[in-house]
This record gives sequence, structure tokens and C-alpha cells, in this order.
Amino acid sequence: MGLSQVAVVALWWLAGWKLGLMALVLTHGAVLWSTFNPRSQLFCPALVRLPGETERVWLTIDDGPSDDTRPILDLLDAHAAKATFFLVGERVRARPELVREIVRRGHGVGNHSDSHPQTAFWRLGPGTLEAEIAANQRTLAKVAGAAPRWFRSVVGHTNPFIGPVLARHGLTRVAWSARGFDGVSCTPDQVLARIEPDLKPGAIVLLHEGAAHGHNVEILRRVLVAVEQRGLSAQLPPQASGSA
Ligand SMILES: [Zn+2]
Repeated sequence: MGLSQVAVVALWWLAGWKLGLMALVLTHGAVLWSTFNPRSQLFCPALVRLPGETERVWLTIDDGPSDDTRPILDLLDAHAAKATFFLVGERVRARPELVREIVRRGHGVGNHSDSHPQTAFWRLGPGTLEAEIAANQRTLAKVAGAAPRWFRSVVGHTNPFIGPVLARHGLTRVAWSARGFDGVSCTPDQVLARIEPDLKPGAIVLLHEGAAHGHNVEILRRVLVAVEQRGLSAQLPPQASGSA
């Protein structure tokens, strides 16, 4: 971002204000778009689907642990499915036994910030981002037995400061290729209609737990059925097994 703005100033100087202004609008547009587009790679690379030919899909479940965690674990077991839980540090400290159960049953654990600053995450500076991410790395290392290597941005937002913080902690950002907006008010029918067209080999599916609407477990049940109907299987990518 710094460099692009130096280039804008240079262009303004060399080519006049009209071209300079156009470049300014374009580069600021890119910055804004990349901040709020969860799949943008500009500030920090993100996994949007599993690499290579695979019949697997990767189920990723955000915002736990919650009251839904145990029913979700039972449901995953019933379908011989595995998932990665992107957990919030302060919720982990409140209910560590749920996190130990996630790991015991062979699922993955990822970092989803320490306090889930929903409306402010996109504008956090480097110090606050470091604190948010480091605190949850420490918590999960202690509770789950190893520090995670996957990170999910809060509400999918990023900014220019997040890449170096993730690199320092050995974290890779995971985005998604299928989502149904199940973290906000919705019905299972609406969510399934949004997810099903993108339920393809290698898909990364974004799901939530503990939402106020109370449908998250039912949504997962129907996603698992849809996965099986397509001849796919919900498994962790090879490098994502256990708590890593
Ligand atoms: Zn979240």
C-alpha cells in the first residue's frame, strides 16, 4: 500500500493531476475492496480451496466453542466426518473442556482471534492485531496441545497489517469457496440453497456454531447429507489433522 501510494505521487508529478487522481481512486479502491472482500489475496494470501484433485471437502466451523459444539461433534462422528473449528480465545478459556473434546475426536483447531472484534477487526493496527492473534495462539497451544497453523479472519476482513502478524506466528489464512451466511439470521433452507451449488471437490465450506437463530446444528446435518449425496467426503486436508 505504501509503495502504491508513492507511485501515485510520482504519477501525479510526472503525468499531471488527472492521471494522478485516477490512479489514487483506483489504488484506494483496491485497498477498500481487499479489506472487505474475504477472498482477496492482496494483503495476505489465503487458501480458498483445497489444492489438487480431491473428492474431499473441508468443513470449517467458526465462532466456537459454544452450546452447539457437543451436538456438532456427535453429528460429525455419526457421518464419519472431520472438520476444523476456528475458535475464539476468550470462549476457549471459558470452556476448555469442549476444545479438548474437539481434539480428542480427531478434528482440527484454528485461530479466529481472541475476542472476535466483529465491527472493528478490519481497522485494527499492527499492535492490536498482534495481541488478538498471539493471545489465542497461547491459549490454544495450552488447551489443545499445539499452537494452530490456520487462521480465519473475523467476518473475513483483512488489512495491510495482518500478513506480517500471521507470518510471525506461522499461520496461514483460510478463506472459503462455499458459504451460506449462516452466522446471521437465516433458515436452513436459505443456507443450503446458497451452499449446495458450490459443494464441489476441494471446496472449503464456511459454517458457524452458536448463532442466535439456533439452526447451526441442523444446517450442518443437511450439509453432511448433501456432501454424501455428491459422493464427496468431509475430511481434513492432510496437513490439518490433529490440533495443527
Ligand atoms: Zn466469526
